[in-house]
Amino acid sequence: MTKLRDNAFAAYEAWAPESGRLIEEARKYFPGGDTRMSAHFAPYPLFVESASGCRMRDADGHEIVDFMNNFTSLILGHADPAVVEAVSTQIAAGSAYAAPTRSQLDLARLLTQRVPSLQQLRFTSSGTEATLMTLRCARAATGKQRIMKMEGGYHGSYELAEVSLAPVPALCGPLEAPNAVPIDASFPDSVLSDTVVCPYNQPELARALIAQHADELAAVIVEPILGSMGMIPATTEFLGALREACTAHDVVLIFDEVITLRLGDGGAQALHGITPDLTAMGKIIGGGLPIGAFGGREELMRVFHPDEPRPVMHASTFSGNPVSMAAGAAAMGQLDPQRFEQLNGLGARFREGIDAAFRANGIRGQATGAGSLANLHLTDAPLHDARESLAAATRAGSVVQAVHLGMLRRGIASAGRLMYCISTPMGAAEVDLAVDALGDCLRELRPDIEREKTGTVVVTDAIKLIAGTSHPAFAAEIAGKLGVPLCDTEIIRFGNENILFQCNENVREADVFVVQTSCPPVSDGIVELLIIIDALKHASARRITAVLPYFPYARSDKKDRPRISITARLMADLLETAGADRVLTMNLHSPQVQGFFRIPVDQLNATPIVCDRLRDTTDLKDSVLVASDLGEAKDLGEYANRLHLPMAIIDKRRDDDGENPRAVALIGDVRNRDALIIDDEIASGGTMIEAARFLKVNGARRIEAAAVHPVLSGRAVERLGASEIERLVVTNTIPLRDDSLGSRLETVSVAGLFADAIAAIHGGDSISKLFS
Ligand code: PLP
Repeated sequence: MTKLRDNAFAAYEAWAPESGRLIEEARKYFPGGDTRMSAHFAPYPLFVESASGCRMRDADGHEIVDFMNNFTSLILGHADPAVVEAVSTQIAAGSAYAAPTRSQLDLARLLTQRVPSLQQLRFTSSGTEATLMTLRCARAATGKQRIMKMEGGYHGSYELAEVSLAPVPALCGPLEAPNAVPIDASFPDSVLSDTVVCPYNQPELARALIAQHADELAAVIVEPILGSMGMIPATTEFLGALREACTAHDVVLIFDEVITLRLGDGGAQALHGITPDLTAMGKIIGGGLPIGAFGGREELMRVFHPDEPRPVMHASTFSGNPVSMAAGAAAMGQLDPQRFEQLNGLGARFREGIDAAFRANGIRGQATGAGSLANLHLTDAPLHDARESLAAATRAGSVVQAVHLGMLRRGIASAGRLMYCISTPMGAAEVDLAVDALGDCLRELRPDIEREKTGTVVVTDAIKLIAGTSHPAFAAEIAGKLGVPLCDTEIIRFGNENILFQCNENVREADVFVVQTSCPPVSDGIVELLIIIDALKHASARRITAVLPYFPYARSDKKDRPRISITARLMADLLETAGADRVLTMNLHSPQVQGFFRIPVDQLNATPIVCDRLRDTTDLKDSVLVASDLGEAKDLGEYANRLHLPMAIIDKRRDDDGENPRAVALIGDVRNRDALIIDDEIASGGTMIEAARFLKVNGARRIEAAAVHPVLSGRAVERLGASEIERLVVTNTIPLRDDSLGSRLETVSVAGLFADAIAAIHGGDSISKLFS
């Protein structure tokens, strides 16, 4: 046993003692205490007492958010009220009859409407029976015997469905023609010789194999996402190649949609636009009760017709059981395209969050999957098939177990192989909880992982995030989004106003991000930042990124008067001299400031976030966007494009250097419209307030404003309070010191965007995708 495994088991056993006691009794009755292999894991699984929505309660009283959902079957979570009612009503009316029921018609109607390829169908009690019956159907219809399945494909609990499930390198053979490998000692040779194994996601190899075996092949069966071997999605090109080759060679193409039906209204076949001959289903269609179904082209399904001379025998005591039918109809009836979209959106959020948590903690890892499905892997290399995912799991060894148990202790349930899925009772809060739990778990495991798996699983460094004193709340929010804690640091100001910075953590070879915005006392903030960077450089940080949500002296970017400093340029020199390797900032007043640096500068754009807030909270029907001076007109174009609004521009003159600009002309029409003044920053507020006055004079109705950086210097808040501006939307790049504008001042957070950018920089990814 490795120390990593020892520690993970010990912590888990101490946390779940009652389940530990119950497993002892289970071991008397069941071999190893296990009556369902997929639900068993070492040292022992949790005994569950009850569940509702997305939460379960275990025998020790822990509340666990269920991302396992009985292996993806509980799309509505546990004990959905409509399902409970349907089941109760049906049980009271009898739990099983050897007779057809109306409820079978209800569910059949629902499924055939959603999945048009199901011209006819039949019900079974499990996905296992469903896939098995598709194979029998294909054999009977084609008169051929052999079946092609994918390497790593799983279709249920019988031998053929499990051939080559785990392609162990010593046995699996060449990729072009994989061996048919049994996964245990129970496989008859006849099953192995009846099975042709095909590599996943290899369109050309699949075409060649189908052509080679065409004369003997009854069917090709494929999961549109390789579920058991790590939620690896098939490409449309691969599924398309199977479709073409099967059609060309008179082979029945079977999609096993037991899991993938949860991707959308019509399952994976609708998403890929590829129609199989037969489809097997299960899991979600039973609303949480045992079920399966299979169906497809009418002429194929005809082999089950009772009037056929030798119909294929499909009986089974519980097929089409009315309780499962009632539950299935109650569940499936609640799913519509919007609900699938919601689930899939949360799935994407989950996978992105997981990727970021791995990156932030310096552990190679990723979430694969699609829609509401995900699987965590301890590798950041792209995964295309079962060979790659098995190799990654083998390299990771007990890290997979340790992460699984660590997540359970943090109240997050998944399959032991780290498969997760989303249910409708979940929201962003549950997804974020799981992502945070992973960050926490990785930080706990990192020392053990580092010792045992250095090089294979551990990236050289983790993100180190340091907060200056200018905007600690913003830095903390970034830390929360990234799932990394802020570094333990001390900043001391001596009586003589000298500053001492000390980092109490090792940052040698670390990728460090220092968050310091520009706000009063501006000079102190700048000097503090330079001192922090200098300290980190001397502590051998590998890379130091200065994160400047609002760039100091951003407006001092040109020599437009005699004998003045170009201070933004000086800032660039100071940061580089101190030792910054990179700068991350947002909406620079003048983009040319980037050119002042010899080190890379990433400039984030808050416009999409501000536009989203405006669109979500304001009726923009009769609005016009206004640039409060000519200089702002260019940036206004992006707002106009995103919000599909007309523009107006104010020609403004400054009589002096003070806060009293004068609006002299208006380009565009604002009469009887709501005006939305846009600026990159709001300092004294003079320009914006004058613009608001001028817009009113020109017949505008309601006046609102938005700016990225709320500098709000001097008496800005008081003056805005007395102005025509009814609402001002700003971001949180600068802390607000005065809340007297109350609900008229709205803040939208850009910390998430900074967190994403930091994760991308750390992981060596492009951050330009964040700008779109
Ligand atoms: N097919 C796939 C893709 C599956 O994932 C499963 C089960 O996990 C099955 C078939 C078998 O379904 P059941 O467990 O309901 O027998």
